[in-house]
Amino acid sequence: MIVMKFGGSSVESASAIERVAGIVRARLERRPVVVVSAMGKTTNKLLAIARAAVEGGRKEAIQRIHELRDYHSCEARQVAPLAERAELDLILDEHFQELTELAKGLAVLGEATPRSIDAIASYGERLSSAIVARALRHCGMDTAHLDSRSYLVTDNRFTQASPLYGPTYARLAEAIPPLLRAGKVVVMGGFIGATEDGVTTTLGRGGSDFSASLVGAAIGAEEIQIWTDVDGLLTCDPTILEGGHRVRVISFNEAAELAYFGAKVLHPSTLLPAMEKNIPVEILNSRRPDCEGTTILPQAPPTSNWIKSIACKKNVTVVDVSSTRMLMAHGFLHKIFEVFDRFETPVDMVTTSEVSVSLTIDNTRHLSEITRELSRFAEVSHEEGQAIICVVGDNIRYTPGVAGRIFKAVEGVNVRMISQGASLRNVSFVVQESALKPAVEALHAAFFSELDPEIFA
Ligand code: ADP
Ligand code: ASP
Ligand code: MG
Repeated sequence: MIVMKFGGSSVESASAIERVAGIVRARLERRPVVVVSAMGKTTNKLLAIARAAVEGGRKEAIQRIHELRDYHSCEARQVAPLAERAELDLILDEHFQELTELAKGLAVLGEATPRSIDAIASYGERLSSAIVARALRHCGMDTAHLDSRSYLVTDNRFTQASPLYGPTYARLAEAIPPLLRAGKVVVMGGFIGATEDGVTTTLGRGGSDFSASLVGAAIGAEEIQIWTDVDGLLTCDPTILEGGHRVRVISFNEAAELAYFGAKVLHPSTLLPAMEKNIPVEILNSRRPDCEGTTILPQAPPTSNWIKSIACKKNVTVVDVSSTRMLMAHGFLHKIFEVFDRFETPVDMVTTSEVSVSLTIDNTRHLSEITRELSRFAEVSHEEGQAIICVVGDNIRYTPGVAGRIFKAVEGVNVRMISQGASLRNVSFVVQESALKPAVEALHAAFFSELDPEIFA
């Protein structure tokens, strides 16, 4: 059994879906479960519909819904068997009617709760999975389409829900293997789930990777494949710097740190279920299925290269908190973190001195409340427009001088908040966003001018 996850660009059009069908058909003997994202940029469009409805643009919201329907209908008709077109139209009608009702509801209320945002965002994967299941059938495969909301059980932290592992694994393990044994290709939407009471939730942006990994862990798959629009995990983020090399093989821990620090090719939680069950994860390009991609394994083979890749996170805000009154006082850090916790704002990086603490956050929704609370016992300031650069490699812990080489490479750049995680597998630091590209360029030149051919392509 294998899990094959196809991202938005891999199912963005009829021709992309046909490519997916070919890729799946070539692997039928491995008994695939197919997990799909919403088609193309559908999730962004759904969120824009919700925003338009709330902001009084009811007409605009309806107009956008029509466009989204036309897009789905046009692509889907090209991949569905003629005999199923009427049924397909019915499914599209049903989904888009519901979506229209929801948008109208938001327009009346003038407000979108996280719960209603998830309800709206879920249509992307519900539609794409229904369409891809029919396309695979059209190509001669026997498919079973499952509604992920009946299997992925989550808590009720809408828009960022966490899976409840017990019931999720139990439901998936009960439902999927018998279908695969019966020769069916199982097709499911990623990203979406539901609470125990059946209320629709989502796992956060990019969450389909995580869904695929949960499915893989639940059924004890032999491999989890993440099919996307790049050849694999690259030595640098291609949206920041082109010309990165493909990493052929990397460890779970290295890849997890890269995902956490911004390598969007994997949702940050993806590797947890796979690691727990020791299931290898492959990153592959759906446009170039013959490219061998990146293999993520429990341990990577030894290499002479110091680092594996450089991840970046943009749109970061640094919050500086200082208090001479709290000098040496116990509980200072606790008080600070309690405030971030109370406002459900994750902190990514932390550096401290005796009387001050700097933290980075990327969700600034509650920054003014946080600042107000912190100001009760400390001076607080913040700076937006920052970026985290994170250099990752298992070798960092064994190689003296890595930090020296990193900071020599970025000599001309103003660096702040240097930190090395307890894993000793990464060195991270913050720069102004405007210095991000030159800094990554300099690091890439310093660390990847010579490549171990066993590890990099
Ligand atoms: P999908 O829709 O298939 O899930 P995503 O857009 O979520 O695709 O993730 C793939 C993208 O991740 C790539 O197109 C690339 O721009 C970005 N990316 C960021 N860092 C890396 C990296 N180190 N290696 C490969 N891709 C990366
Ligand atoms: N469609 C969702 C998103 O765009 C989930 C995913 O693509 O992984 O965030
Ligand atoms: Mg993604």
